[in-house]
Amino acid sequence: MKPFSPTREFALRLDAADPLARFRNEFEQPEPNLCYMDGNSLGRLPRRTAARLRSIIEEEWGRDLIRGWNNGWYQAPARLGDKIGQLIGAEPGQVIVCDSTSVNLYKLAYAALQLLATRQTVITDSLNFPSDIYILQGLLSSAERNPHRTQRNFNIVNIPADESDHRPDLNALYHSINEDTALITLSHVTFKSGYLYDMATITRWAHEKGALVLWDLSHSVGVVPIELDAWQVDFAIGCTYKYLNGGPGAPAFLYVNQRLQSDIVSPIWGWFGQNRPFDFRLEYTPAPGITRFLAGTPSILSLLAVEPGVELILEAGIPAIRHKSVALTEYFLALVETCLSGHGFTLGSPREPEQRGGHISLRHPEGYRINRALIEEMNVIPDFREPDNIRFGFAPLYTRFEDVWETVERLQRVMVEKRYKKYPEVRPAVT
Ligand SMILES: *Cc1c(COP(=O)(O)O)cnc(C)c1O
Repeated sequence: MKPFSPTREFALRLDAADPLARFRNEFEQPEPNLCYMDGNSLGRLPRRTAARLRSIIEEEWGRDLIRGWNNGWYQAPARLGDKIGQLIGAEPGQVIVCDSTSVNLYKLAYAALQLLATRQTVITDSLNFPSDIYILQGLLSSAERNPHRTQRNFNIVNIPADESDHRPDLNALYHSINEDTALITLSHVTFKSGYLYDMATITRWAHEKGALVLWDLSHSVGVVPIELDAWQVDFAIGCTYKYLNGGPGAPAFLYVNQRLQSDIVSPIWGWFGQNRPFDFRLEYTPAPGITRFLAGTPSILSLLAVEPGVELILEAGIPAIRHKSVALTEYFLALVETCLSGHGFTLGSPREPEQRGGHISLRHPEGYRINRALIEEMNVIPDFREPDNIRFGFAPLYTRFEDVWETVERLQRVMVEKRYKKYPEVRPAVT
């Protein structure tokens, strides 16, 4: 970042030149002095969403009642899926919004294993989100209890990190893929370090050996360029409450490439995935296309609340968002290197912007208490990830360069004044 100066004036100049600056006003800002650095975990509330939800509650639920299903609710999972598809390089008919990311991973990993039933290995990595690993372990556990019936037994191979501790060992990954590999499932951007996989290359490695890939886009959708169709990805999942600003617990999405859709089924045969649910037949026939991955009645309020946030991202455009995201993280690191050296921080993320997504982890032996001091007395909200990572998310639509400057300035005060020392080391339930 050149020229660079660690002054507030420099931050203000960067904000004045920011082509996305107007989007900040699209979000509720009830606390102007708050530096919200956790938009990668729970995005801010778009003003349009607040207005839209009020009208959905009063006019659609309140007035239309059951008629709402024929006035747009029934098609909403696929319609919204197509909109998210525009953010991830997916032509219509391949993305649907439903359930949670974890449940969608279960459905697609199960389907992939059924498709390549002679292969016995699933590859993931130790940087993956623990829930993703648990889902695989659960699938394996039920397969082990039921080895000769509907589910095949398999092994889970967990690729370790390299010596940096925040990147995967790509050499080990490459050499672990072979004719026994059914599925490779990884987070496109890893939740702790923010490492960004080269999705096109890893997908090609998998396909060269006849394996399938399933990418978790939770930490990359809405902030990093993604071209699922062009990269010939098989399956993807992701959540909508991080950079898409869909709201706490908003439903997730899943992608199944067109070429695979008619060959696979969901393990959960619910009526919303049935071909004609309102015939009320007693036999299950999967719906054609992506709809077969629905299970039960969608959470309509949460689902419709996702749409305005997705539209904001589409308006801003992923290239401009990625450009600002890189500028924000580079600026943050330049400030950290200038203002915080000698305070014991190490970088828990790749230094090269092309190897990371929209967030950065700083590691420190006192990371937990420093994070607490930032939240409780400095009006800065990052989050903490064990064992020692303070994670800073820089959602480009509403984070100003001035917020980044303020964050580093307040963090410096916490360190110089040793404010973290007064906090206990005991962790609450949600960090
Ligand atoms: C946030 C996140 C999830 C969330 O899963 P839910 O089932 O929606 O709670 C899953 N995977 C990754 C990589 C995440 O970052």
